[in-house]
Amino acid sequence: MFLISAEKFSLWKKKQLSKGGDNHSLNLLLESLGGLSNIELNLLKINLEKNLNFKVNLDLIESFWDKHLNTSIPIQYLSGISFWRNLKLEVSNRVLIPRPETELIIDIISGIFKNKEEKITFVDLGTGSGAISIALALENPNWNGIATDIDKNAIKIASRNFATYSNQSNLKFYNGNWWDPLKNFKGEIDFAVSNPPYIPQDTYEVLPIEVKNFEPKLALLGGQEGLDHINQIVQNAPLYLKNKGWLLIENHFDQGEKVKKLFLENRFTSVKVLKDFSGIGRFTIGRYK
Ligand code: GLN
Repeated sequence: MFLISAEKFSLWKKKQLSKGGDNHSLNLLLESLGGLSNIELNLLKINLEKNLNFKVNLDLIESFWDKHLNTSIPIQYLSGISFWRNLKLEVSNRVLIPRPETELIIDIISGIFKNKEEKITFVDLGTGSGAISIALALENPNWNGIATDIDKNAIKIASRNFATYSNQSNLKFYNGNWWDPLKNFKGEIDFAVSNPPYIPQDTYEVLPIEVKNFEPKLALLGGQEGLDHINQIVQNAPLYLKNKGWLLIENHFDQGEKVKKLFLENRFTSVKVLKDFSGIGRFTIGRYK
């Protein structure tokens, strides 16, 4: 442990921010590497008498900060940690950094399946770091989850993330493209969820460098219009879902209506586009027949 006075720390922090970057990113680094929570950081403003306990010394944190400023590598990849809902997940540049808007998926699903005793089989297609499937499996120990990803490294990371939180076996990870690893589960899935790559080509080209240069293209680019993978997922869903089974897909800010049409063309019913916290039609949901 490294004990540092609040006053000394405040000066250090000012110096770091004067070099560039933003407060949110610096706080994230302090939390990931230094073990300092946001609450502690906020309390500092009213209590300058206090001493702070860091897991590593400030020079080390500064060296990571400088690297972030010089290279634009996201803090999460530098620290190898991403916070998502109540989880602290291992990430590397083989998986997308899980986004805050995606957190809402867990609440939407909890709102549909209110009876916690019900035995549910769910799938998370393109699980990446495992965020969605792990949150669902931990909150619902009665459910059985299957998470797939085309990248073997993502499967390794997601499996490790689940093992950090659980010694249960109610979530299994399979390497393969979308539904491909689920050949033995045809007609057995109560609900499927996916946050697939949906960024259109033109948008992808102009993404901020922190995203474009470091996050996996495989997890972001959805072809010319961004809908290539969503198309594949929706078209194959009827083979795997139970009668009345649910499909929920995250989409780009302006794709809601197009994805809704796709659901309807594939004989889904009760199709709706749900908004995220910014009021964007971010999730399309429907039932197979
Ligand atoms: N929401 C992510 C972004 O804006 C994209 C995630 C995705 O393509 N599934 O970078």
